[in-house]
Amino acid sequence: MRIEKNNKRTFKEKSTGKPWTGKSETKKYADKKKPEFKKNVTKKTDQKKPEGKKNEGKKEERKRKSLCPVHGRCGGCQLLDIPYKDQLKQKQTQVTKLLKPYCPVEKIVGMEDPFHYRNKVHAVFGHKKDGTVISGIYQEGTHFIVPVDECLIEDQRADAIIRDIRGLLKSFKIKTYNEDTGYGLFRHVLIRTGYHSGQIMVVLVLGSPILPSKNNFVKALRKLHPEITTIVLNVNGQKTSMILGEKETVLYGKGYIEDELCGKTFRISSKSFYQVNPVQTEKLYGKAIELAGLTGKERVIDAYCGIGTIGLIASDKAKEVISVELNPDAVRDAIVNAKRNGIKNVRFYHNDAGIFMRQMAEAGEHADVVFMDPPRSGSDEKFLSSVLTLKPEKIVYVSCEPTTLARDLKYLTKHGYKAVRAVPFDMFPATEHVETVCLLSRKASV
Ligand code: SAH
Repeated sequence: MRIEKNNKRTFKEKSTGKPWTGKSETKKYADKKKPEFKKNVTKKTDQKKPEGKKNEGKKEERKRKSLCPVHGRCGGCQLLDIPYKDQLKQKQTQVTKLLKPYCPVEKIVGMEDPFHYRNKVHAVFGHKKDGTVISGIYQEGTHFIVPVDECLIEDQRADAIIRDIRGLLKSFKIKTYNEDTGYGLFRHVLIRTGYHSGQIMVVLVLGSPILPSKNNFVKALRKLHPEITTIVLNVNGQKTSMILGEKETVLYGKGYIEDELCGKTFRISSKSFYQVNPVQTEKLYGKAIELAGLTGKERVIDAYCGIGTIGLIASDKAKEVISVELNPDAVRDAIVNAKRNGIKNVRFYHNDAGIFMRQMAEAGEHADVVFMDPPRSGSDEKFLSSVLTLKPEKIVYVSCEPTTLARDLKYLTKHGYKAVRAVPFDMFPATEHVETVCLLSRKASV
């Protein structure tokens, strides 16, 4: 899994390559609402200011107009200041326009409370000229840290932990890492929270493996936040845009969290993909499985399965499930998840989904239903052409990028499938991103 370092990190987890075509539109709006909460935004760091920061007056104006003081600088939440119903309207229009040539698009499923939904929170650490520790996110397209105390879309428990880690770095005299010189230690914090379980994982990312006074640091952090259930030390000594390095040691707890989704329990480790909006994910997966119309007799493929979520949830209603995923950590979690839930009719394969499907096609295999949930870049022709050979009656395509969904629908609808219906889901309120689930069925003659 790739976790991007820049502000777009938020939704890049799914992206592993360049899309074939298409770009999503970005529009910026601002309304007159004043922020109702206070955010401390620290200024002046010892880092070089990026280009385009000359207009301080504009910054003030932006602060006054936006719900968020770093809006426009952090690069996330492009739609934050648009009333929520208008955000939904905008996403509805976008998906409808793109999918119109292929199928009807139903009403977008929005959130009741579109704030603080993110269960995964990342902060990069640095310091000001006077040595004060700051944490926040990279300004768009740069390595300049925009200090953030709290974010309107992130889990508030995670933001509080990050704020307190800043204080601990000071008391433990731990230096933050300097990317240019490679000097210093503390790079990032990644936090994952369990929506139903309440479990919290804190990943401390260091430039080198030794955390001074490790035990006391962990003790102090747990004292401040007894709700933390596990603390992991991750070492990333590379000059890279990835947040996490390869090596990990568990400092406290199990090294992963668990959470419930659609009645099943899932183990989530630091590097596995897991949907960031748990409330909407339940609705999305519920719809995906409903669209598949399973009766208990089907052979199902869950492609791009991550930690196994969709296939495991569908397994009760299918004869067997074959799941495939490229990220080895996610596959490991998926296997544990099957056991954890006592599920015996799901098999997991660690492979590229396209290669795997081609192998199945060449072996003359058949499938009744294919769930596919590819990264933003969508699927590839290898995958799609192999699906045609496997001849599933139904394809349920879960997409986080409607332009690549439209592109893949074009291919599938040209080759014997009919796109029946699509339902957009607002998985990422305040941002321009939108998720869509689309049902395709095989035309009788093919
Ligand atoms: N269905 C899962 C994961 C969806 S995200 C869920 O909803 O939680 C997309 C997943 O595709 C990620 O886990 C990513 O690691 C995986 N992936 C990306 N490229 C892949 C490829 N070529 N073959 C198989 N899996 C891939």
